[in-house]
Amino acid sequence: MAVIRIRNTKHTSFVNITSQVREVVKNSGVKSGLCLVYVPHTTACVFINEGADPDVIRDIAYSLEKLIPWKDNYAHSEGNSAAHIRSSLIGNSRVIPIEDGDLMLGTWEAIFLAEFDGPRERKVIVKVIKED
Ligand code: ZN
Repeated sequence: MAVIRIRNTKHTSFVNITSQVREVVKNSGVKSGLCLVYVPHTTACVFINEGADPDVIRDIAYSLEKLIPWKDNYAHSEGNSAAHIRSSLIGNSRVIPIEDGDLMLGTWEAIFLAEFDGPRERKVIVKVIKED
């Protein structure tokens, strides 16, 4: 198990953590198995999408902002309900198959830590499971 620590500098950010996750898989020595990426936070989450064109991430951020505005008639007294809702919809974990000692990500895919209530330091837990 490994913990990747990411310090975000903005309120909302999408950090490409693919190379750090790949490094954990490489160091594990596992050739075939599964890689679990888990974010133990309620206002941050993890997802996989296009890493080549930054406009895709910009459009995801834009659409989330439109669908779940920061200010609305929310009840949660902390004032960050939009961050909780956005994170819940995206989800706090992903499982990626490992083959030949590497993540089986598609050509354009990347793993992103999404921050919705920064700046904060976040933990990403990476667990590599070996196939029998
Ligand atoms: Zn809250």
